[in-house]
Amino acid sequence: MALLTSFDFVVVGAGVAGLRAAIELSEHGSVLCLAKRELTESNTQYAQGGIAVALAADDSPELHLADTLAAGAGLVNAEAARVLVTEGPERVRELLGWGARFDRSGHGDLAFTREGAHSRNRVLHANGDSTGREIGRTLYAHASTIKAIELRAFGFARDLLLSGDRVAGIEVLHEDGSTEHIRARAVLLASGGMGMVYANTTNPDVATADGPAMALRAGAELADMEFLQFHPTALYLPKAPRFLLSEAMRGEGAQLRNDRGERFMLGCHPLAELAPRDIVARAIHHELEISTAAEPMVYLDLTHLPAEHLKSRFPRIYQTCLKYGLDLTRQPLPTRPAAHYAMGGVRTDLDGRATLPGLYAAGEAACTGVHGGNRLASNSLLEGLVFGARAAKAMLAEKPLGGHAAPPSAAYGNGDACALRREVQELMESNAGIVRDAARLTTAIDRLRQIQAELPAPTDRLRAEARNIAACGLAIACSALARRESRGGHYRSDFPERDDSAFQQHSVLGPKGLRFE
Ligand SMILES: Cc1cc2nc3c(=O)[nH]c(=O)nc-3n(C[C@H](O)[C@H](O)[C@H](O)COP(=O)(O)OP(=O)(O)OC[C@H]3O[C@@H](n4cnc5c(N)ncnc54)[C@H](O)[C@@H]3O)c2cc1C
Repeated sequence: MALLTSFDFVVVGAGVAGLRAAIELSEHGSVLCLAKRELTESNTQYAQGGIAVALAADDSPELHLADTLAAGAGLVNAEAARVLVTEGPERVRELLGWGARFDRSGHGDLAFTREGAHSRNRVLHANGDSTGREIGRTLYAHASTIKAIELRAFGFARDLLLSGDRVAGIEVLHEDGSTEHIRARAVLLASGGMGMVYANTTNPDVATADGPAMALRAGAELADMEFLQFHPTALYLPKAPRFLLSEAMRGEGAQLRNDRGERFMLGCHPLAELAPRDIVARAIHHELEISTAAEPMVYLDLTHLPAEHLKSRFPRIYQTCLKYGLDLTRQPLPTRPAAHYAMGGVRTDLDGRATLPGLYAAGEAACTGVHGGNRLASNSLLEGLVFGARAAKAMLAEKPLGGHAAPPSAAYGNGDACALRREVQELMESNAGIVRDAARLTTAIDRLRQIQAELPAPTDRLRAEARNIAACGLAIACSALARRESRGGHYRSDFPERDDSAFQQHSVLGPKGLRFE
């Protein structure tokens, strides 16, 4: 028997989107804000580069909008992007008011830096390369002072509770295997990214696509699942997590070399290492495929740059590399592309409303269309703040609901969840990664369908996560197979061109199958 509890609102996730939403909701009722591991373990904590916001004197929301639209490969929802850039400044000022310490110039003014595809210096950063950690610290410190918010670590949301066709709460699976049914007027999925669907990812272990998978099982729609950003440069060491080697390192002059020592980007693009992310990622992928070395490798080389500057510009990256025995001032860093950011997710309107009543989503778990087919660097932290707050405001209108509520029913197999989870990740890496084609996607889809039938009942967190990874892997592969063109984060070697006449549309996956609209 599940323990029964209730709150006015449940927020699944304690990253930037979840915490911002919880703060807003707390003015109007009781809020449970869950993290499935420690409260500090989220994609937000690992965000290095910064948060984009039009606050500099020579900048404007209009310019930020133009850059966001240009980056999105023809698929940005312009209304959502306008909301992002116009409400962003207010949300960031609010964060400053709550004590966020962004880096400042010698005169005490906010220091804005520039990142790829931004036409102005508009990216705020903290402690050099620890922006997400500072934003998370600020929101957490503020939320902790609010009595109406219960911040709960190790609270794993396994499924949504349904009452008819309405979401009425969540089912939490405790570490000891017991369950709790938590009723709420509305549920917000702010569960972050889905990097763990792939074998190589910059995301932490918690990014197992739980939100979109739960939403899909309950009958909500997902959108744009085929669009993933693969970061070109993640540290690649056998026993280390794929730690992100920031784009800013290439901005400072880092060079990419193949295992023959050649600087291959010079022949690929006029901007060489500073070419757009998807081009650099594909070039690295190509070098790895054509290498004849026993273990193909590509290196990010900073050894020609001043050591002291590197240590102060990238303190966290420098220390992390040292931890794994690499001194980046003296040794080239082994690197590979890794799944980094999901443009797709739970389909929502501009107020975070999903297609199922009572359900909302915000942050990386959601798809408002704000990033289109490709995210403009540093727009995602801002998205979490802006759409977290908006979703919370919309949730206030939901009324309490009585009656019976239960998770969606499902059938299970008796396979080994750990082995199947690993297989999904390898399958996605080889068949639905940076370079895709119909044959490889079909192989992935066929096997993923079998795996779904083999997965055992989700009686512990790892089993439940395996189910979510497989479900979202299948959603990505099916959407990628249907999009017979290349655009933004989706590249098909059998359809290498963009095809606006057929595919300037969003993919939508729901209970009735897949469609474009
Ligand atoms: C290495 C790295 C660098 C990045 N750099 C930048 C950058 O410079 N600028 C930028 O804008 N973006 C950056 N990003 C992207 C950005 O960090 C994320 O998109 C953003 O932080 C997502 O915030 P979120 O609140 O949606 O989710 P997250 O911050 O990922 O939080 C998700 C939360 O959901 C919880 N959760 C998940 N599933 C469950 C479940 N089943 N039950 C209960 N809780 C659950 C987790 O425990 C966590 O608390 C980076 C990402 C990475 C990985």
